[in-house]
Amino acid sequence: MPDVRHALMAATARLGERADAELLLLHALQQERSWLFTHADDELAMDVQTAFQQLVARREAGEPVAYLTGRRGFWTLDLEVTPATLIPRPETELLVELALQQLPDRAPVDVVDLGTGSGAIALAIASERPQARVIGTDASVAALAVARRNAQRHHLDNVTFVHGDWLAPLAGQQFDLIVSNPPYIEAADPHLVQGDLRHEPASALASGDDGLDDIRRILVDAHHHLRPGGRLLFEHGWNQGEAVRGLLAQAGYADVFTAQDLELRDRISGGRV
Ligand code: GLN
Repeated sequence: MPDVRHALMAATARLGERADAELLLLHALQQERSWLFTHADDELAMDVQTAFQQLVARREAGEPVAYLTGRRGFWTLDLEVTPATLIPRPETELLVELALQQLPDRAPVDVVDLGTGSGAIALAIASERPQARVIGTDASVAALAVARRNAQRHHLDNVTFVHGDWLAPLAGQQFDLIVSNPPYIEAADPHLVQGDLRHEPASALASGDDGLDDIRRILVDAHHHLRPGGRLLFEHGWNQGEAVRGLLAQAGYADVFTAQDLELRDRISGGRV
């Protein structure tokens, strides 16, 4: 039987990523990362070795690590993810940061996260603003089940999840802040049939010929659901900044802006009513 160190070296050579090999081995072992530092010389039990080899083979065939382990870190939270949910991306943490800047520390504000998926954005905001009332919506019942389990796992009781398209289930309700990481990839983008994206829900990724179908709808609907002074903030593609600022202005938003990610690419835009 190989020991932990050699099993990891062999898997890293196959996968090209030490971090992926570690996550898969820790999943096979049901251990946390700190375990590795003190157990590098342990021999792997036969059943762990078999489980690990199967995970490595599936990763080699293209399945995302987060779906193989069923987990992904976002903000400060360890989240459950399944193939019914998008895998939360680190870029989306910028949306959380900008949202928190809009939310006073101790005010009972109303926030909604449209297309919440695993609940990543809604839960991150709820965890940082215990006084905020946060709602996440999603058109996928399977995704909502994951989001609800994530809320329970982190004991966040200031967030609820409701089923439906964008704001449709919230008729007549008004919010101080509406956030979303909607699908925004162009339907013909070749990335959709490559790499990890192949395994993620198409409805969470693509949105019409120019990628803006859902954003157009969200912009218009959100305007009716914001209190005076309320804000909309959403993520989009690096090449969509100019187009979405135009759409925001056209829909009547004030203080229209775009924020760039760490790689200085347009990433989040928004405005105020
Ligand atoms: N809000 C979720 C996330 O950012 C899901 C987004 C989506 O499915 N497009 O991870």
